[in-house]
Amino acid sequence: EEKLNRLATTDSLTGLCNRRAFMQTLETELGRYRRYGKHASLLMLDLDHFKTINDTHGHAGGDEVLRYFAMLLQETVRETDLPGRLGGEEFAVLLPETKVSSALVIAERLLRKVRETVVWTHAGTASFTVSIGLGVMQPEDSTPDSLLARADAALYRAKDNGRDRVEVYSLGQHDK
Ligand code: C2E
Ligand code: C2E
Repeated sequence: EEKLNRLATTDSLTGLCNRRAFMQTLETELGRYRRYGKHASLLMLDLDHFKTINDTHGHAGGDEVLRYFAMLLQETVRETDLPGRLGGEEFAVLLPETKVSSALVIAERLLRKVRETVVWTHAGTASFTVSIGLGVMQPEDSTPDSLLARADAALYRAKDNGRDRVEVYSLGQHDK
């Protein structure tokens, strides 16, 4: 039964949490943070120009890049943070007890590591970058939807502003 459970919650390509499991955890965790007045941040990450990687390295090469990125993501954040693959080339990380200033430190660390990374795929080497949107949980968030929407809006801004960067969804006021 444990094995079945793992299959149902794990993304088979990367071994990260799959979308369904990530959303479920997000919902329970946010409820807890709200209840106890804790901070939480959410990073939404999307590989830049992933279609070009697929075009030049083939689907298998693209998959190798995704696997590598997932590994890098996992080893760049704390054991207590929760990374997941939302689908395609889109990932997210839930950062419990993390304010916007610390979440930015983590996002910048990720950007730097990805920039420095060369993936040796079966179809030659691949370099890539990632865009990151940062959303901060607000006390009035009653479901994960608003937090996800904020991180998503920030991600779009990161893409618009030239990619390979992090943007924060701004409410005009952040916890410092
Ligand atoms: P820093 O790397 O500049 O991180 C500043 C603060 O950002 C940390 O303060 C923490 O609140 C948050 N933070 C940074 N990385 C992560 C992360 O991966 N996940 C989460 N959830 N939060 C993160 P803190 O904990 O007081 O740490 C102060 C400094 O101690 C860090 O500054 C870093 O220089 C060092 N440090 C702490 N833990 C580690 C670690 O596991 N590995 C390394 N290499 N350095 C660490
Ligand atoms: P961990 O907390 O699960 O963190 C895993 C990796 O995320 C770290 O590997 C590091 O690459 C990154 N990381 C986490 N927090 C920070 C941070 O605040 N700043 C920076 N620059 N990187 C961070 P690393 O450094 O090899 O550490 C492995 C494990 O050793 C950590 O696992 C943690 O359990 C422990 N550790 C290392 N440094 C510290 C520290 O300063 N304070 C505490 N409490 N634990 C530490």
